[in-house]
Amino acid sequence: MGLNLLYSNDQRGKYPPSWYAATARELEPFAPLRGEVKADVCVIGAGYTGLSAALHLAEAGMRVVLVEAHRVGFGASGRNGGQLGSGQRVTQDDLETMVGDPDAEKLWHLGEDAKALVKDLIARHGIDCELKPGVAWTATDVGDARHLVEYAEHLDARYGYQYLEVLDQAGCQALCPSPVYKGGILDHDAAHLHPLNFALGLARAARGAGVQIYENTQVHHVEEHQPAVVRTDKGRVVADHVVFACNGYMGGLNRKVAARVMPINNFIAATEPLGAEAERVLTRDVAVADSYFVVNYFRLSADKRLLFGGGESYGYRFPSDVAALVRKPMSQIFPHLRDVRIDYAWGGTLAITMKRLPYLARVAPNILSASGYSGHGVGTATHAGQLMALAIRGETDGFETMARLPVGPFPGGPTFRSPLLALAMSWYAMRDRLGV
Ligand SMILES: Cc1cc2nc3c(=O)[nH]c(=O)nc-3n(C[C@H](O)[C@H](O)[C@H](O)COP(=O)(O)OP(=O)(O)OC[C@H]3O[C@@H](n4cnc5c(N)ncnc54)[C@H](O)[C@@H]3O)c2cc1C
Repeated sequence: MGLNLLYSNDQRGKYPPSWYAATARELEPFAPLRGEVKADVCVIGAGYTGLSAALHLAEAGMRVVLVEAHRVGFGASGRNGGQLGSGQRVTQDDLETMVGDPDAEKLWHLGEDAKALVKDLIARHGIDCELKPGVAWTATDVGDARHLVEYAEHLDARYGYQYLEVLDQAGCQALCPSPVYKGGILDHDAAHLHPLNFALGLARAARGAGVQIYENTQVHHVEEHQPAVVRTDKGRVVADHVVFACNGYMGGLNRKVAARVMPINNFIAATEPLGAEAERVLTRDVAVADSYFVVNYFRLSADKRLLFGGGESYGYRFPSDVAALVRKPMSQIFPHLRDVRIDYAWGGTLAITMKRLPYLARVAPNILSASGYSGHGVGTATHAGQLMALAIRGETDGFETMARLPVGPFPGGPTFRSPLLALAMSWYAMRDRLGV
């Protein structure tokens, strides 16, 4: 069945040792599937993509079965940096070049719909996940800082986006007193949240809307018939439609997706609570992402820990000492925290595509797939779930726009693409370190 990361780095049915899991509003486990069930739609994977698809389908009156190999929010959705960004992962100026102005404009609006959808779901279902406004992009050199200012002007002029505050070097230092940053922009309409509690809140809403959720239930094979047959460890789902929402853990379930969507790992550490020292990291309760190729991203938790994401590792296994891996970039950005205690450190598996565009596809007449959000999934995955739900009900516009994106296969195929990517990424990471 090819590469499968479901069990490479984690314990079966257990959340990772993250600060998020330690502060989760956990749900009672859902029983595994045994025997046969019938459904209008079988959704595979209970991250944002699958939970959102299931919720929206059930709200429209469909019989939905959601199967998850581990626990709800076990994957990237329960472990990420919690940043809800604006637009798409790829910047608008790059999108204009890639797909032309009209589609770039549609994609901008779809990205904004995604951000609004997350905020709306949180409000509508009363999800307690510490949603707070503000994400800053910080520049590590003056060239990047200039580019950010030009980009803010471009978004205002072309798309009427007026939520960006330009930070000169002094403004940036006042927000984030790291010696590294030379300027930035603060997006007041972007936001950050507790990612696992957002996923668990979606699961509560889905359960309330009538979705049958089965945890500890791995799908091994999908028979592409009408109806489709989804084979799990000890049961099967017979469904008119199937939604693949497995992202970085998809493995060999579908070859077309496997060729275009590649898993990579990323890492986060949570320090001890910093108390008054937190002011030396951030003076406002916003999240930050910087302009290094291997992006550093961070924010403060409610109890004033630094939640810092970064660190490179291009094998499929997590390194044995994740804290040590993250400590390196964290000490570079905040030298005074070189010896701070790290209380939690964890890895997560996300999925990227060649051009960092999400991959939405109709892989069989009655089977849809969405994945490859390339680090921009809090909004995009949640939205992709809704777009698939709409497409299944016959409203295909949004899904088709996303599915038209030019997402080609990785060179090297599933076997050689990882070494190739490791080479390419190490090259860019080295450029970061050398400052070229
Ligand atoms: C460390 C890290 C930091 C990140 N930071 C950010 C950020 O700040 N902002 C942002 O927008 N994005 C971020 N991302 C990306 C974002 O988390 C993902 O894009 C998003 O969560 C993807 O959601 P998903 O539902 O598609 O996948 P996942 O949440 O990974 O869910 C997939 C689920 O499918 C299940 N599954 C897979 N295969 C099977 C099978 N065969 N049978 C049954 N179940 C199966 C898995 O167990 C898993 O629970 C980050 C990711 C990581 C790892």
